Parts: sequence; C-alpha cells; structure tokens
Amino acid sequence: MAPSRPANRPQVKPGPPLPPKGATQASGASAGGPSRPANRQASKPSAKSPSSPATPAPVARVAPRQRPLSSGPRRIATNLYSATGKRTIRELDAREMRILLRVDFNVPLSDGKVVDDSRIRAAVPTIKALLEDGASIVIASHLGRPDGKVVDGLRLRPAAERLAHHLQMMVPTTGDALGVGTEDAVKRLRPGELVLLENVRFHAGEEKNDPAFAAKLASYADVFVNDGFGAAHRAHASTVGVAGILPSYVGLLMESEVEALSNLLDKPSRPFAAIVGGGKVSGKVAVLEALIQKVDLLILGGGVANTFLVASGRSVGKSLYESKMVEHARRILKLAAERGVKVLLPVDGVVAKEVTRGTEFKVVSTEKLPASWHMVDLGPDSITAMREALASVKTILWNGPLGVFEIPAFGTATRELAKLAAEKAEAGATVVVGGGDSIAALQQLNLAGKMTHISTGGGASLEYLEGRDLPGLAVIPTAGSPFETMPILWEAPKPEKKPAPKPKAPAKKSE
Ligand code: ADP
Ligand code: MG
Repeated sequence: MAPSRPANRPQVKPGPPLPPKGATQASGASAGGPSRPANRQASKPSAKSPSSPATPAPVARVAPRQRPLSSGPRRIATNLYSATGKRTIRELDAREMRILLRVDFNVPLSDGKVVDDSRIRAAVPTIKALLEDGASIVIASHLGRPDGKVVDGLRLRPAAERLAHHLQMMVPTTGDALGVGTEDAVKRLRPGELVLLENVRFHAGEEKNDPAFAAKLASYADVFVNDGFGAAHRAHASTVGVAGILPSYVGLLMESEVEALSNLLDKPSRPFAAIVGGGKVSGKVAVLEALIQKVDLLILGGGVANTFLVASGRSVGKSLYESKMVEHARRILKLAAERGVKVLLPVDGVVAKEVTRGTEFKVVSTEKLPASWHMVDLGPDSITAMREALASVKTILWNGPLGVFEIPAFGTATRELAKLAAEKAEAGATVVVGGGDSIAALQQLNLAGKMTHISTGGGASLEYLEGRDLPGLAVIPTAGSPFETMPILWEAPKPEKKPAPKPKAPAKKSE
C-alpha cells in the first residue's frame, strides 16, 4: 500500500522572484513558508530521541539562502525545458521540503578508501542547491553488488567522508536504509541538513523494485529527486519505484549528462570521432553499432581493437580478445564501410611477454604480432595516425583506455590521447569522456577538468548513447507538469533485460 501523497501545494514557477522569506529561514521555522506536505509531521529536534545507528554527530547545516537569487542557475532559468524534457529541480521550491535524493555513489574503493570520487563530486551541485534552498535531504545510493545482503566492504561510509570533504559539512550515515533508528534520524533532520542512507542494495527489495521497499524509502520524504545518472538505466526501487509514489524531479547532474550526451547524438559538430578502447567488446557492441550510424571516424584501441584485428584477418597472439565477438566486429566493420565511416585500427602495438610490471616488451607491426606475446598498448605509428586523424575533428567521444594504462609502461597511447583531447577541448572542440577507467586515466594526469563533459554514467551513458530509454529518467514527469503529477509507470515498471518468456510446455496440472 502506497503511503499518502503530499497534499497539493502551489507549483512554484520560475520567473518573478519569490519574496524573501525573512529571518525565520536559518532557524528552520516554518512560519510564513508554504504549508508542509500532509504526509509528515513537522520535525522537532528532540533530545529524547532513542539512539539510532545513525552517527549521532552534530550536523553542520547549510544556511538556507535568501531569495531572490543573485546568481546561479536555479530559478532564474527562463527555460524549463531542459534537454531531459523532464521536471528538474529548477522548478521546485524545495524550502522546508524533505527530499529523497538518489545519487550514484557507486565509486571504486581500495582499502576502504574511495579511489576516484568523480561521481561524488558530480552530485555536489544538486545537493548544495537543495540545501541552500532550505531543504533537508535523505540521500540514497547503491555501492557495488551486495545482492540483497549486508557486505561490510560495501558500506557507504567512505563515500560519506568524500562528500563531507566536498560539502565542508558533516555527512552522517545510517547503519541501514531501513529501521527505527533510520526513521528517527530522518525525522530529526532540519532544513539545511542531510543524512546518507546505508547502501540500498543491502536489501533485496531494491533491485527487485519491490513496492514495499520503495514505499518505505518514499515515506522518508515529500519529494523525490533523481540525480543518480549512473543508476538511471536500472528500474529499481530507489530509481523507479519511489518516483511512482512521490512528486519527482531530476537533478542538475542528470540534466547535464543528458544534455551532453543528447547533443552528441542529435547535433554534433562534424567531423565527429568516437574513440573506443578498454578491455572487452562485449559490453560495447550495442553502443558501437549505434555510434557507427553517427560518427565520421572510429578509432579503436585496447582489447577492443584486438577483437577487430582478428575480425579483419590478423592474429593477435596471446592478446586479450573475444572470439565470440569477432562476428559482431565484422558486422560493425561492414556497417562502417557502407556508411563511409573511417575506421582506424592499430598499425603497430606494444607487445609484452606478460601483462605485468617489469616484463619484457617491444614495438611490433600488427601485421605480424608474435604468437606468444600480448598486445598491451598502441605503438608510435598508431599514435601518430590517431593524432593526424583527429586534427580536423570537432567532436570527440572517448570511452575506454587504449592500453593497459594501469602499468605506466603500457599507458603511452592513453596518456597521449588524454593530452590530445585536452588540447582539442581547449581549441574549442567538444570532448566528452565516459567510462570509469578512462576518467581515472584523465584524473591521473589532472586533465579531467579540461574536457567539455565527463560522463559519470558508465553503463547508463552507454545505454543512453545506444538510444535506449533510461527507466529512471522515463519515470519522471515532463517539465512544467504540476507538482502533484505522478508518472503512470507505477503499476507496470518494465522488467529489465528479461528475455521474452519461452513458450512453455503445457502445464501438467492447472491450479
Ligand atoms: P572504461 O571503464 O573506461 O569504460 P573498460 O572498463 O572498458 O574502460 O576497460 C578498461 C580496462 O581495459 C583497463 O583495466 C585496461 O587495463 C584494460 N585494457 C586496455 N587495453 C587492454 C589490452 N590491450 N589488453 C588487456 N586489457 C586492456
Ligand atoms: Mg571500466
């Protein structure tokens, strides 16, 4: 049973600035503000609350800002219709609202520390905007694949630490996404405060989009904001389920991701080049097939290129390649030839005895790759050819490192491409980079900030580029719809990637 919805409240439209709310704001008092949605009580900070698994640390608060805004993108936006076509937080008056905010803090960890916090940093603008607006935020995210069980190594505390660093405020985490202690921590939130729920995938209901789990998450808030672009391709409880219960909006990251990626698909400045590397073709076949219809140039590297080399008749020795993908690669090469897309395959490569540090390696032509060696990077002639081919290009999409860049000796092509991409972006080209490892390579060189857009979406970015609907985005009402508009999707969230049911043999017994 879904919890009751917030009472209707007047939709706040951009345009005439809102009157300043006076001195009551910072104290969180509600006098003069819009009436609180009916589904929750005004929370009184209480000293008597039972102890909860949430960190009982004092919470620094962001002072809600005075309106009208003097700067910043929100509310002064004249055009509601962002690239998403969806209702965004620009049209939400979040003051004194409790927001359930889905983010994607699925970050790489090593020894309990966040290795790359790009996804956390990317969520900061929305969090700040909502806090400054006088909202309180219950943040939900997944981390890894705990498969419905508590896995201590996949707790969100390291992510909370990074977020605290970027926000310069305490970020308490709950010990569980559900439970009395969590409910209590949520109830105690005052405007300008936030709490991070523990990994939602510790509950099996998350990935099943279980209505009861979604209802529980939704009961924490008045409004749902989805800014977790990296999880938008999943129809889970915290991405799709809650959006069927609460008035829902997309955040600023979701908006900028969709804008950058849709620009690539719809109106790229030409010539448009895609550079695809990384380990395996299997996860990238669909996007390669979609891109080949859009780009003028395709440059291949990494293990992906190895599979294409095999498809074009070369042998690659012990190099990583996928025999099952050779046919797909052949089809993509054929499509490219039909469309007149130039495909650049490596003409030479760095081959290594083993894929380890300190091993013997040499440069050879890809015409005669030695049988007992591994190709681990592009060679100098391939790098020169790449540089020449990219000289006149106006749009670049890069996904996947060009070699085993984690080993510095095999990272030359990736580093050269990163520098070249930065130069191109500085010279005015549009450069979009996606993929966790590619972004990590850019971070290592301190070049991420130079790109036009870093896509934090991983699988979601790829699915978007394939032209597929992202359920987490599809479910949000259209821009300009009244506050209380709900999606129609609640009844029937589409099951994901389930193969069509096979015709069954006649049932043995009918019940
Ligand atoms: P991204 O995360 O940017 O999408 P992928 O996950 O597809 O990239 O691929 C990254 C991985 O591919 C890296 O770990 C890298 O070592 C590996 N890789 C790149 N080139 C090769 C190669 N020639 N042989 C084996 N692995 C490779
Ligand atoms: Mg990767």
